[in-house]
Amino acid sequence: MSVNYDKYEIVVGLEVHAQLLTQTKLFCGDSASFGGEPNTHVSPITLGHPGTLPKLNKKAVEFAVKMGLACHCEIERHNYFARKNYFYPDLPKGYQISQHTTPICKGGYVTIKNAAGEKKVLLNRIHLEEDAGKSLHDVDPDNTCIDYNRAGVPLIEIVTEPDIRSSDEAYAYLTELRKILRYTEVCDGNMEEGSMRCDANVSIRLKGETKLGTKVEVKNLNSIRNVKRAIEFETKRMIDLVESGEKIIQQTRSFDATNGTTFTLRTKEEANDYRYFADPDLTPFHITDSFLQEIKNSIPPLPEELVTKYTKELMLPEYDARVICDDKETAGYFELLITETTNYKAAANWMLGPIKSYLNENGSSITDFPVPAKTIGGLIQLVDEGKVNFSIASTRILPVLIKDTGKTPLQIATELNLIQNSDESSVLAWVEEALAKMPDKVTEYKKGKKGLIGLFVGEVKKISKGKADPKLTNQLLLEKLNN
Ligand code: ADP
Ligand code: MG
Repeated sequence: MSVNYDKYEIVVGLEVHAQLLTQTKLFCGDSASFGGEPNTHVSPITLGHPGTLPKLNKKAVEFAVKMGLACHCEIERHNYFARKNYFYPDLPKGYQISQHTTPICKGGYVTIKNAAGEKKVLLNRIHLEEDAGKSLHDVDPDNTCIDYNRAGVPLIEIVTEPDIRSSDEAYAYLTELRKILRYTEVCDGNMEEGSMRCDANVSIRLKGETKLGTKVEVKNLNSIRNVKRAIEFETKRMIDLVESGEKIIQQTRSFDATNGTTFTLRTKEEANDYRYFADPDLTPFHITDSFLQEIKNSIPPLPEELVTKYTKELMLPEYDARVICDDKETAGYFELLITETTNYKAAANWMLGPIKSYLNENGSSITDFPVPAKTIGGLIQLVDEGKVNFSIASTRILPVLIKDTGKTPLQIATELNLIQNSDESSVLAWVEEALAKMPDKVTEYKKGKKGLIGLFVGEVKKISKGKADPKLTNQLLLEKLNN
């Protein structure tokens, strides 16, 4: 049977849980840091003992609002927490404190690049809630162990509208979302450690259809790539089902990363009934104008904004701008660098070329890069003044600067005798020496084999040990050859 997959449209909505980078938990002073010996971040409040009372962590509210503002959401000023009741062994209270009818952020969007150009992926909401503990099935052969360290750690859940139309768009959305989480320092975005988790809701429908199809929710996606793989597997599975005359049933499925497939976890017969009600132990909380303003002021320039600045104001190619903005630290270094030079393209070339290669080769990140931006600015100037060429600057001077950050590029260039010679008589002598070495080639050149110019340039470079000013070399060579 040949299936026409193009008849169908893919519809995806993503739910992302992001662990907030607060010191302490959402409703008590226990450490919210990842890991730690099991059950060491557990006061009676975390364990849900009777008689304990939760107290709201203001920092968590600040982080949720910060992310909401970064995603252009409307901020809910009057909030309350609700109890979401269900039984789970790693949920000690028997309910999770979450938000119900008043998510702290509503609407909003994240801008992504897609095949058509740009797209705003619409958000439904961002709400605050506490995390559950962790069941460990592989510690003891006969029992499940529970680690409550994670119970009560603050999360935001970021929910999109069913607005994503391909696995590539899902990939782009998550990459962008993670960047925003990291730029705002709201979450470390580490999917392997579970501080950013994603569930994908997927459905299909015939192109042109406006009603949504029955959705399947895929859980346990621990990387952005796996979200993409899961969506691809799921859409094909659903289209094949429909094409063979079967019906899609609403299910929760799990992703198996080893073979890229999904399998049924549970089939939803009816909507869950969590018996939500306002938590009587927590008072409603209000976000004041001044708190909101304070948070607004604390938001650093975000990648979207920086890319626009670099392409529109500094006239950099979009590719350069995007690579520089991939992470906040690289963009931060670049921001410093452009205060040291106005040759922005050269600055970008250094970031994308020699600096990036050095970091890749050494498995380190820009925060460990020993050469200050000011010094790279000096190197750019040295090249611009024609004192050394880029290749000498990047292969001979930069390695010395990395080891000995105390010296200036000019000092090193002078010490290593690398300063280019733009003295006409010395360059002319090298040019003449080079041409005298290859009379046959000179004849060929004169007969029309103009490509040989490169050979002559190379020879002058060799004789002068790279010190002949390249512009002058070219000029003098042409003068000699064309006479
Ligand atoms: P639930 O309460 O079952 O979790 P929601 O309506 O809250 O469902 O939606 C959860 C996520 O699923 C949202 O991101 C939403 O956009 C997405 N979603 C809802 N319906 C569909 C559908 N038919 N196809 C794809 N995604 C959907
Ligand atoms: Mg859901």
